[in-house]
Amino acid sequence: MSYLIFQNANLIHSVDLNNLQILENKTVLVNQDTGIIEKICNHIDEISDQSCINNAKFYQLKSTQFLMPGLVDTHCHAPQFFFTGTGLDLPLLEWLDKYTFPCESKFSDLNFAKKVYEKSVKSHLYCGTTTICFFGTIHLEATKLLVDIIEKSGMRGYVGKVCMDRNSPDWYREETQKSLEDTKNFIDYVLSKQNPILKPVVTPRFAPTCSSQLMLSLAEISESHNIPVQTHLSENVNEVKWVKELFSSESYTAVYDTHGLLNDRTVLAHCIHLEDDELDLIKKRGAGISHCPTSNTSLQSGIMPTRKYLNKGLKIGLGTDVAGGFTPSIIHVIRECIGVSKLYRSFVKSDEEPIGLSEAFYLATIGGAQLLGLEEKIGNFSEGKEFDALLIDFSNIIHKNDDHHEPNFSDDHSLREIFEKFIYLGDDRNIKEIYVKGLRIL
Ligand SMILES: [Zn+2]
Repeated sequence: MSYLIFQNANLIHSVDLNNLQILENKTVLVNQDTGIIEKICNHIDEISDQSCINNAKFYQLKSTQFLMPGLVDTHCHAPQFFFTGTGLDLPLLEWLDKYTFPCESKFSDLNFAKKVYEKSVKSHLYCGTTTICFFGTIHLEATKLLVDIIEKSGMRGYVGKVCMDRNSPDWYREETQKSLEDTKNFIDYVLSKQNPILKPVVTPRFAPTCSSQLMLSLAEISESHNIPVQTHLSENVNEVKWVKELFSSESYTAVYDTHGLLNDRTVLAHCIHLEDDELDLIKKRGAGISHCPTSNTSLQSGIMPTRKYLNKGLKIGLGTDVAGGFTPSIIHVIRECIGVSKLYRSFVKSDEEPIGLSEAFYLATIGGAQLLGLEEKIGNFSEGKEFDALLIDFSNIIHKNDDHHEPNFSDDHSLREIFEKFIYLGDDRNIKEIYVKGLRIL
């Protein structure tokens, strides 16, 4: 067995929605063979098994460093990295036609796919995302390639081959049977890797581009293989109207439910314009929501009432939704989550408390883990969980190009204040090391 022992370690993580715990000067023992955090204690003498110590690599953390859990991005489109930061002048349905479908159609070319996917995966990893839930494109081979690239990176990856058999240009649409066959082949491919940190996801793009037959059959595949489902729900008012025209159903949420796609493994991106009965249905089925505020602002979709959904007890994680969202950084999404909730209070509902920093951080870690069914494995530093962690160095938080002259903030601020500064002012340059399941991957 090989071990990691971190000494003088400051740990910052969520215990629950309202409780950000800061532990100072701890010793952390990680088993690298299992990836498990075996012990968090005050002093190395408390590790009774001498063989752990004999087989350990030691890391002495500096006073300017802390460990936090790896971030979880619960909704993102890997191919759209190609046009991230451009084309944000249109609302959803027009944006899909003008920018998204033309870009995604290019992934039939595996050389192009390789080039984009390698950069896409790296861009998220460098921002501290250790677990990601990706949409690929409709192309089987390119989506298999995406899984290979994620596997090579060492990240935890949930990946879906996109399914869509109507209401898109004929040059970017599948035949229903082909979509189903490719989905089954994709699932077999991912499962054959027998890699516990990679998972296939059944991925109907959204109801308007999926026939009833396609959705019903995808639900059967999800059920028979016990595979998660990801899709979009109630992102844009015109989309909601369109769904009501296409399906004679009580609500958009009911469309997914009547097609068997709503269960406790389902990740629903956006969920902005939901009625109360839809929230009840999502709760009843145990499905969860990926909140993507950066994208929602960029595509003029609206503001998700996060406080209301939290009060309802719904599972919520955060998503970058690249490229509707212009950044691969979940840290940025934490800021946006807080910011849009303040706007919601100012302009929509004055009695609704905005989301606080501790709560948004919880959503970016434990909330995301719950959404993906990983709450027993990751999300914080409980003993027995797997060690997915970021080593943050905050010695150069504000003047990033002036390392030598920047005063050490730890002399003047509490660790809690330093953490807040990192969330609002820090970026990938402050992320010095990244660990997944006990292994250093960056
Ligand atoms: Zn999306």
